[in-house]
Amino acid sequence: MSKSPFMAGVAADISALTGREKELMRDAGIQWLRTGNLGFDPQAFLRGEKQPGKFLAAKQRMAALRREGFRFTGITPGPLKMPETAGAPGSSAYLDNYRRICAFLGEEYRELVDYWQVANELDIWIFRHTLTLEQSVDFLKAGIRGVKETNAKSKVGINITLFPSRPGKVDGNTEAHEGVFIAKGIYQDSGLELDYAGFDSYPGTWREGGAESWNEYLDAFYALTGKPIIIQEFGYSSAGEMMTPEENRSGIYPCKAKKWRFSWNGKGHTPEAQAEFIEASYRIFAQKPHVLGATYFRWTDPEKCWQCGQADCPVETAWGLLDRAKKPKPSYYSYQAVLRDILGNRK
Ligand SMILES: [Zn+2]
Repeated sequence: MSKSPFMAGVAADISALTGREKELMRDAGIQWLRTGNLGFDPQAFLRGEKQPGKFLAAKQRMAALRREGFRFTGITPGPLKMPETAGAPGSSAYLDNYRRICAFLGEEYRELVDYWQVANELDIWIFRHTLTLEQSVDFLKAGIRGVKETNAKSKVGINITLFPSRPGKVDGNTEAHEGVFIAKGIYQDSGLELDYAGFDSYPGTWREGGAESWNEYLDAFYALTGKPIIIQEFGYSSAGEMMTPEENRSGIYPCKAKKWRFSWNGKGHTPEAQAEFIEASYRIFAQKPHVLGATYFRWTDPEKCWQCGQADCPVETAWGLLDRAKKPKPSYYSYQAVLRDILGNRK
């Protein structure tokens, strides 16, 4: 297993990993797995009931992977998972219930989770659910305090994606500068104990730019947060045609067009461009002492696009290092090679 201090990770469905897949991960130097699949039932917790069997199953699965050398970043539930019994969204009862939920998870996963990410991308309106931006900051603070309350040793942070702020150019990014608002609300509060700043970005696929964009993004994000950065999500889709200029101008959603609006330097979306993107991105990450690690999204190509449900939609079906048959793509080999080369991650 990797001796590299860099946290090289991948987003994977850890409930279904085969021995062969784990071997491929080890061969590539991938040690970190990020998961929100904790089998946790907030409703049962708030009612004072026992957690369901799937909670214990998730813990056992993670304990087994840990024995094999893997390490975890756990994701606490977001506002979408909060049941009505938690109280009115944003109220003090609701925030206190969220703090108690995170304290419970911190305690239960004390031996299994080294890093916690409190909720996921609350700068995106879908994930904020009914919370305002101000309430989202309070929600995150409650979660951070909860985890630290029972597990002071664990490393805690949040992640945002709407950065640098590009109102009108990136979906969900408005003049409210959602990403900057939340990052400032959390990282500029000296009363909070935080260990890292999580950052998710998809330059060249979901937004303009490419691998070279990381230079500007990471330096500016570090200046904003003052904390070491973990890139909690990044990636490049290996499939999908480009929109025509007319389609692009119409503002059509990529799932509807089944095409992409952006690509890196006109390279399009191919397995080769994906492989090149990973290598070029990692070369930039490795040059920055304030970057602790990166989680590649994602391990395998799923059968269907989770956004529109279509198997022939490229939007969520081609980010993988492995294809649908779990065969390594060129991106798998470039990930392996760049980790070995740059991060001294040798077997
Ligand atoms: Zn789709």
